[in-house]
Amino acid sequence: MQRDQQIFELIEAEKERQLHGLELIASENFVSEQVMEAAGSVLTNKYAEGYPGKRYYGGCEVVDEVEQIAIDRAKTLFGASYVNVQPHSGSQANTAVYSMCLKPGDKILGFDLSHGGHLTHGSPVNFSGKLYNPSFYGVDKATGRIDYNQLESTAKKEQPKLIIAGASAYSRDMDFKAFRQIADSVGAILMADISHPAGLIAKGILNDPIPHCHIVTTTTHKTLRGPRGGMIMMGEDFENPFGLKTPKGETRMMSSLLDSGVFPGNQGGPLEHIIAAKAIAFGEALTDDFMHYMLQVKHNADAMAKAFVDRGYHIISDGTDNHMMLIDLRNKNITGKDAEQALVKAEITVNKNMVPFDDKSPFVTSGIRVGTPAITTRGLKEVDMDAIVGLIDEVINNYQDEAKLEAIGEKVNEMMKGKPLFS
Ligand code: PLP
Repeated sequence: MQRDQQIFELIEAEKERQLHGLELIASENFVSEQVMEAAGSVLTNKYAEGYPGKRYYGGCEVVDEVEQIAIDRAKTLFGASYVNVQPHSGSQANTAVYSMCLKPGDKILGFDLSHGGHLTHGSPVNFSGKLYNPSFYGVDKATGRIDYNQLESTAKKEQPKLIIAGASAYSRDMDFKAFRQIADSVGAILMADISHPAGLIAKGILNDPIPHCHIVTTTTHKTLRGPRGGMIMMGEDFENPFGLKTPKGETRMMSSLLDSGVFPGNQGGPLEHIIAAKAIAFGEALTDDFMHYMLQVKHNADAMAKAFVDRGYHIISDGTDNHMMLIDLRNKNITGKDAEQALVKAEITVNKNMVPFDDKSPFVTSGIRVGTPAITTRGLKEVDMDAIVGLIDEVINNYQDEAKLEAIGEKVNEMMKGKPLFS
């Protein structure tokens, strides 16, 4: 068969973009060579509906072993007693959980998208806000930190069946113990979505949700540095408190319900090539090298936050505990949209982001979100952070000067020279 030049040339162009630019999108990372190899392996050819030892297809002996290794490594990594590695994405992990804990119309309580939450936590444009009945908690205007009093009073008023602790753009650690006390006081199930800080949590650098939350979901491709995908975990199995039954009318433990929520509830065949890549990433995350990596991600974020503050930028909550920060650009007279576009011209990739109490639309926004997982994988250290923020500042101060942006892009290329994508 003829090689598809059109697509392979585009893949090469994307590789060049990744190689030469500065990747500051907080949810992105670069996987290792062996994770990439598994993701592009012959396992993509295999159908394996069901779970290890209980498949609906023949010839699953090998993928059974692969999937079991992924499950066992994830259990060790997070100290979980139950893991499902099949969700194709973080959104699908959340879908599977909701579908087994809730009925359409039930109340959920999540982190407001415009304060740092995720679409799947009840946004009206997402299935979670259309199928369920959402209310929201947010951050305190003065501190930029989660307002636990407002969380509690909203929970008491709304009596949600499910509370979601998790965020896409929140730079502070979460108090899962406080979340659990509030959930218990209203009889709600507590789910943590640790998609962003999963790697930091796995290495004990941030608070551990497993002892406090009934269910924990995550993506595998952000700080965890695995392939694009999702996962569901529990510290301890439990009986569904709302007496929800399987489609056959049986009452089962939550582990059994969650498994059937993923397959056959929301997905068909699992992506065994991606599950193999997840297993490899979990193996990597269990090493001391990954501990050093996660600490470096955090140190780089601290150094970056300081460099922004030193140049007069307003970081929401005035700093970071994790791998990212949200910058309010209103005192710099530039929108998030204009900043994102100018930065891309200078080969620096960030995403525009709403800031709490934003007066601009999600398409324009007043802020940008930046994170350090990807540049840390490329080998950048604390000493490089001031230079990076210097370049970002230069872009923001000259965002309409095309020649200047191109010149900054050249400096970026110089900085990234000799830093491999794969380590
Ligand atoms: N949950 C949170 C907190 C996220 O930040 C994200 C992705 O950004 C997701 C869920 C969804 O993950 P995916 O893009 O894999 O569906």
